[in-house]
Amino acid sequence: MYRDGVDSENVQPEDILCDFCHRAAWSMGLPCIEGHHGSVICGDCLKVAWMEIVELDGGESQDGRDCTMCLSNHDVSTWSSPMGEALICRRCVKMGGVTLRRDKDHQWDTPG
Ligand SMILES: [Zn+2]
Ligand SMILES: [Zn+2]
Repeated sequence: MYRDGVDSENVQPEDILCDFCHRAAWSMGLPCIEGHHGSVICGDCLKVAWMEIVELDGGESQDGRDCTMCLSNHDVSTWSSPMGEALICRRCVKMGGVTLRRDKDHQWDTPG
């Protein structure tokens, strides 16, 4: 997500916030995964989501809500942000985790 009041013609790294923890994850040098419509999840949040959904096979049912990242409802388990509205589905967690694991610029690995 973009910071409130961002100049859309001139987006800076510190204007790009993780939808799930609302930190300027990009400018902090955290690995990030981008979704649709400017949605972002940082590596820290992705780890928590991965732990809950993939490792513990938990999460909440999607229950008619669209995933913030893929804007779809696949009726799979989801992890929601403690900060607010953002929701990530199991598909996006898996895809994001696999992508970040391959990212040579960061020492990111899936938990568990
Ligand atoms: Zn985050
Ligand atoms: Zn999704």
